[in-house]
Amino acid sequence: MNYFSTRNRKKKFSFKDVFLRGLAPDGGLFIPEKIKKYNSDDLKRLKNLKYSDLATEIVSSFCEGEIEKQKLKSIIEKSYYTFSIENVVSIKSLGDLNILELYHGPTLAFKDIAMQVIGNIYSEFLKKSNDQINIVVATSGDTGAAAVSAFKQKENINLFVLHPHEKISKMQRKIMTSENFYHSNKISKNIFNIAVKGNFDDCQNLVKQMFNDEQFRNHIKMSGVNSINLGRIIFQIIYYFYSYFKISSGEEINFSVPTGNFGDVYAGYLAQKMGLPIKKLIVSTNENDILQRVINSGEYKPLKVKNSISPSMDIQVASNFERLIFDSLDENDQEVSQLMEKLNKEGSFKLKKKSLDYIQSKFYAEKVKDTETANCIKEIYKKYNFIVDPHTAIAIKAVEKIKDKTKTVCLATAHPYKFVETVEEIIDDKLEVPIQCLFLGPKEKYDVLENNIDKIKKYIKGKVE
Ligand SMILES: *Cc1c(COP(=O)(O)O)cnc(C)c1O
Repeated sequence: MNYFSTRNRKKKFSFKDVFLRGLAPDGGLFIPEKIKKYNSDDLKRLKNLKYSDLATEIVSSFCEGEIEKQKLKSIIEKSYYTFSIENVVSIKSLGDLNILELYHGPTLAFKDIAMQVIGNIYSEFLKKSNDQINIVVATSGDTGAAAVSAFKQKENINLFVLHPHEKISKMQRKIMTSENFYHSNKISKNIFNIAVKGNFDDCQNLVKQMFNDEQFRNHIKMSGVNSINLGRIIFQIIYYFYSYFKISSGEEINFSVPTGNFGDVYAGYLAQKMGLPIKKLIVSTNENDILQRVINSGEYKPLKVKNSISPSMDIQVASNFERLIFDSLDENDQEVSQLMEKLNKEGSFKLKKKSLDYIQSKFYAEKVKDTETANCIKEIYKKYNFIVDPHTAIAIKAVEKIKDKTKTVCLATAHPYKFVETVEEIIDDKLEVPIQCLFLGPKEKYDVLENNIDKIKKYIKGKVE
């Protein structure tokens, strides 16, 4: 299958290109030229597959001709071996609530579901080359740990993770920076954690600047696994299908997705495009509500990042949204480029009516404040004796606020233990330690650096040489 950039449809790229580059050379995001459509007979055929087989079926259509299906299947099976439950994800139904637990991977957030496979596909692509590549990634707390787990001790790969210093939870940091005897890994020599004195948008911006510096990029053979990497998004499509088959008997359903960078919910949108009967996708945000504002008003305008109790979504620049804008403008690459230029120059842009109508026909958007999130966690605990993390609570609360009675699946994106201090205080009770955290070593390894592009580049060059 061919891919092109949201800012230039003419130039074509392979799956491997898309996978290893992350961002298109013109600064745009990669889009598949066409995607496979499943009709109701196809859906019946997929309905009873186990998770890894379903993943193989769906993903193979994106890398046809580049990764052989049998090979893909074995990569996927190997990747999910590290999960603590049989079928990667599970669904908990509590009254009218359907909670899709996506946090049974090694680092307790949904990021593992794509990242574990991504790590193994990298190894596959790099097998025949002796090149050392350097992956640089920004994290709002969960991508980093997932990447560390996926790339530890991988040959020919160094991983640099930039996280916002003191703006992620302690447990998120520990899982990312400590040795973990559960997976028998010591702190790997190829992993470098950097705490940047800034917020997530600063981290993401630093990574973008490094990417745009061609000399630096080529010098260190830089690659990226941020959530704009389409390879990741493709693997997130699977659980929409899987949970749909478990919950629906053929009718349309809604999904509520706690959103920051618009990656996970965009995967749901792709599932819908592929023929999965989804009525609406609910974009659920915390007080960093740029997506809620743009979907309800049409104005895309990043504001200052606010710290919240759902730090993985403390983001104001929702990079993946450009992909949806591209579709909403009838795939007009020039109009997308113009909007992005305007954003750069003026700090905001406004969507035209037709574009906004398209988006509103597929998405609801709702904002949830910290106090509402905390109350939601408390209520669910009282009512069902079940504990959700703050991100999941946002998805649940958003459904309540929207008042659409359609059957809805809420994505549970992180295990509550990742936010143990916040959650224990809210429910006034102790959390059980999940098996993934029973053997966390006491030692943490990370370096604190200024939010300064030259210092970060120097640090990375120093480790690479
Ligand atoms: C990354 C993350 C999100 C947001 O996902 P996006 O794909 O960036 O929208 C939500 N919840 C948790 C726990 C996360 O780690």
